[in-house]
Amino acid sequence: MSTETRLYTGRFAPSPTGPLHSGSLVAALASWLDARAHDGRWLVRIEDVDTPRCIAGATETILQQLATCGLLADAAPWWQSQRGAAYQKALGQLQARALAYPCGCSRKDIAAALLARGLTPERHGELVYPGTCRQGLQGREPGAWRVRTDGLGGSDLHIAWQDRRLGPQTQNLSQAVGDFVLRRADGLWAYQLAVVVDDAEQGVTDVVRGADLADNTPRQIHLQRLLGLPTPRTLHTPLVLAADGQKLSKQNGAIALDLSLPVRALQQAAQVLGLPPDLPSATVAEWLAAAVPAWRASCPARCPAVA
Ligand SMILES: [Zn+2]
Repeated sequence: MSTETRLYTGRFAPSPTGPLHSGSLVAALASWLDARAHDGRWLVRIEDVDTPRCIAGATETILQQLATCGLLADAAPWWQSQRGAAYQKALGQLQARALAYPCGCSRKDIAAALLARGLTPERHGELVYPGTCRQGLQGREPGAWRVRTDGLGGSDLHIAWQDRRLGPQTQNLSQAVGDFVLRRADGLWAYQLAVVVDDAEQGVTDVVRGADLADNTPRQIHLQRLLGLPTPRTLHTPLVLAADGQKLSKQNGAIALDLSLPVRALQQAAQVLGLPPDLPSATVAEWLAAAVPAWRASCPARCPAVA
């Protein structure tokens, strides 16, 4: 484990569910540029906690794609699939303080409980958990572990934070998300817990990632506060949209990156980030060397960390 302390540590954290697409290259480039522009460290972390969704060979492909674009990490990558003991320790801390509790609800149970309260179950396809098992399992089999998201005296928990590009943000975590899963019924670790534990252990000070992940931030801030961990600054980059205006994803057929001309791919990513189109581009190295000061001149200001 690195004990090196720097003023800035950033990371790019792809899921190996397929090769990078143009949207993920934007996020990778932005996080790399931001780290370099702040004379910081840049790490790569493979977010493979959701093992059934991972594709064999995707990690190697992603690392090769990053290398082709000259985006080289300052340390060997971490694999979340090897970090279960650390996530268990964090869950144990929350269990010991009764901030996490076992849940025996199926998806159907949750939808029925929400409907019984006259609430619409869907939120981005996820169900807002109504807190059924807070009072105990009442005969249900324990499955997932959830974290409480209520405020003092059972009031709603509002999380406010400052994003470097999006500005002031706020979410009523209790109403928008509800008590969320830390460990799934199938034993897999939830992304939110893994990210928070790893960001803290890797000393990440700045999270630069796609705006599609912005709405995860309040859940992560909540866990950071409960676990006594620092909250990194965030910068959520613009998304590359598919021709139909939808978010680009592997599901809607995002085409794999064409890296036969890596400088061209970098220039296209840079355009999304608002960098000048005319940086010297004879080689990848030359283009990157010019892009760092360009980013430094134009990047959204760093804001104080959310306490
Ligand atoms: Zn439950």
